[in-house]
Amino acid sequence: MSSDVQQILEAADFAAKKHKNQRRKDPDGTPYINHPLGVSRILSHEAAITDVVVLQAALLHDTVEDTDTTLAEIEEKFGEKVRSVVAEVTDDKSLLKAERKQKQIEHAPHCSYEAKLVKLADKLYNLRDLQRCTPTGWTEKRVEEYFIWASQVVAGLRGTNQALETSLDALFKQRDILTG
Ligand code: NDP
Ligand code: ZN
Repeated sequence: MSSDVQQILEAADFAAKKHKNQRRKDPDGTPYINHPLGVSRILSHEAAITDVVVLQAALLHDTVEDTDTTLAEIEEKFGEKVRSVVAEVTDDKSLLKAERKQKQIEHAPHCSYEAKLVKLADKLYNLRDLQRCTPTGWTEKRVEEYFIWASQVVAGLRGTNQALETSLDALFKQRDILTG
C-alpha cells in the first residue's frame, strides 16, 4: 500500500495530465489544473481535512465532468471510495445547463459528508476566482447570478465545515446576498 503522500501526488499527477490542454475562464487563461489543486489546498489548509479520500477526490473532481476520464478509470486507479465521491460531484452532461444547475441545488443536501466538503471548497475557490477577475465575456450581471446560484447550493451544504462556511458567508455578505 502506498503512503498518503504518494496517493495524493498520484491524483495530482493524474489530474494534471487529464486537464493538460484546458484553461480557466479568466482573461489570463490560467492552466485548469490550478483549480483542482487549489480546491484540495483549501480543504487541507483552511478546513484542516486530512482524509486522503477527500483530498484525492478534490484533485480529481472535474476530471470526469470535463475530460475523457471515466468513473471506472477513477475506481481502478484510486479505489471505490474516491470513485463514489467524484461521482457525487460530477454533473450529468446530458442535461441542459439550467437543469444541471437546478439539480445541484436539489442534490446538495443529499450528498455524503465527503462530497459536501469538496463542493464547499469548489464553490469557495470559484467565487474567489470571480472576485479576483471577471471571466472573458461575462457581464457583471452574470457574475452576480453565479454568486446567487452558489449561495443556493451552499444552503444545502451547511453544517459540514465551519471554516469553509464562514469564508463563503463573508463573500456572500460582501455582495449583499442574504443567507439563512
Ligand atoms: P458556467 O457554468 O458556464 O461557468 C461557471 C463555471 O466555470 C464554474 O462553476 C467553474 O466550474 C468554471 N470556471 C472556469 N473558470 C472560472 C473562473 N475564472 N471563475 C469562476 N469559475 C470558473 O457559468 P454560469 O453559471 O454563469 O452559466 C449558467 C448558464 O447561464 C449557462 O447556460 C450560460 O451559458 C448561461 N448564460 C448566462 C448569462 C448571464 O448573463 N447570466 C449570459 C450568458 C450565458 P468548475 O468548478 O467546474 O471549474
Ligand atoms: Zn471545480
